[in-house]
Amino acid sequence: MATSQAKDTKSSGSGKSVAIVGGGVSGLTAAYKLKSKGVKVILFESEGYAGGKIRSNSENGFLWDEGANTMTESEKEVGRLIDELNIRDKQQFPLSQHKRYIVRNGKPELIPSDPISLIKSSILSTQSKLKLLMEPFMWRSSDQKSSAKVSDEYSKESVRSFFQRHFGKEVVDYLIDPFVAGTSGGDPDSLYMPYAFPELWDLEKKYGSIIAGVILSKLKAKSSDKGEKNTSVKKRNTRASFSFHGGMQVLIDSLSKEVGGDNLKLNSKVLSLAYNYEAKSPSGTWSIACDTRNPGTKDITRKQSFDAVIMTAPVSSVQEMKFSLGRSPFVLDFLPKVSYLPFSLLVTAFKKESVQRPLEGFGVLVPSIEQKNELKTLGTLFSSMMFPDRAPSDQYLYTTFIGGSRNRDLAGAPLHVLKEMVTADLKKLLGAEGEPTFIKHIHWKNAFPLYDKDYNLVLEAIGKMEKSLPGFFYAGNNKDGLAVGKAITSGSKVAELVMSYLDNKP
Ligand code: FAD
Repeated sequence: MATSQAKDTKSSGSGKSVAIVGGGVSGLTAAYKLKSKGVKVILFESEGYAGGKIRSNSENGFLWDEGANTMTESEKEVGRLIDELNIRDKQQFPLSQHKRYIVRNGKPELIPSDPISLIKSSILSTQSKLKLLMEPFMWRSSDQKSSAKVSDEYSKESVRSFFQRHFGKEVVDYLIDPFVAGTSGGDPDSLYMPYAFPELWDLEKKYGSIIAGVILSKLKAKSSDKGEKNTSVKKRNTRASFSFHGGMQVLIDSLSKEVGGDNLKLNSKVLSLAYNYEAKSPSGTWSIACDTRNPGTKDITRKQSFDAVIMTAPVSSVQEMKFSLGRSPFVLDFLPKVSYLPFSLLVTAFKKESVQRPLEGFGVLVPSIEQKNELKTLGTLFSSMMFPDRAPSDQYLYTTFIGGSRNRDLAGAPLHVLKEMVTADLKKLLGAEGEPTFIKHIHWKNAFPLYDKDYNLVLEAIGKMEKSLPGFFYAGNNKDGLAVGKAITSGSKVAELVMSYLDNKP
């Protein structure tokens, strides 16, 4: 049961109704927030389950995540939601989470977490280490104007070019490339800074140096936290990764429970949306048509009208929907095609005695440049090292990623090919011998939207839809960032926007 903090049934939203399309974490968050303000919500989800890219599963004493494995609380909306849902005590933090590895010359090397360990580490050459340590002096804030000018000059700068300017090529090849592959499936050449890392993009404009900018903005956040009444908020490390006892599904189940089974229409793929209004009437309403696999949905589709619509389905799904505005079709020919990156996840387990070099920590990432050492996977999470209760005590559980923009074709390879690839890489990296005792394969055909050079055109087109269609709002990872925390923030913020729209709607 959610705390009363979020409940505010006297709000002006009472009596109004909103349709939410898509039951991923952004849609669920929006639905939960609106419902807690007294708005009637109906959420349409095309699949037979809610959660979208968040889904946990269990079998034979193993528990694994099939989409997002962990999240952070970097955005304040995440902390608020966890408290409101009363799931703070279910949070599960990985053991040794700061131990993360990058492959260099075919071997996992610990990523240094502070300047002293950076100097000692063999992950980078002396020249690159010096470049990193000198960055705050090379890109001083007194040069703010010139750095702002640089940003303007590179108004569409790739992730590679941006980080290479600040830290050099080796840092991009060994730190940035594996990081972006592991978190977004992308690569530094295809991803563009203003859409992939908007915060760092802005930090450069403000502070010049990225390192100084990160430190100064952290200090600023700390001093503004001093005013925070709740001391537990002050103490929390909001950048730490975490999951929940029971996997990420706990978040989805708690949200779904709060939204309520009757308001959650599963197996309900939205096909068309119509904004209906009369010339004389000051405002209109939305009606929605779904496929009719779910008989309960058929009734709503026919009878119910909505004051607003929140779309959280991917742009590729929206392009298949039909829109109309009054009696005319609203054609989406201005909405550009989004490129989606495919991913396969292989969950494997090995007897502990079969793993010669088990590493404590979070996981290992493989830079593209290390493909020369015959490594084909993007990276592996040490799932049971992080969360020992996720595997029987005599086994190690691993989650390995394949595909992304580096190896689009491999993501769709059959299981026997993927298995061979993953066991070969785990053998090289950890000394995992023989066959896995357990194996699961999850294929995400459209895992991540690629925030590429022309993603501004997608954002502009979404803006045009919002402007042209009264009471239509867009949220989720096709608009506001890929991380779970960003999707939650997107869902929370869109709920606020809808509330103020409803306040002003006659
Ligand atoms: P989605 O979860 O994609 O939800 C959209 C929903 O819309 C879906 O449920 C879909 O079925 C539904 N839909 C589509 N079309 C229709 C229609 N016509 N009618 C009705 N419903 C429709 N993030 C992290 O922070 N940490 C991680 O460790 C992490 N790992 C990831 C690993 C993988 C393999 C993947 C794929 C993603 C990962 N992410 C991670 C990213 C994160 O999980 C997602 O960006 C986030 O969950 C997206 O939420 P969303 O609500 O925006 O979209």
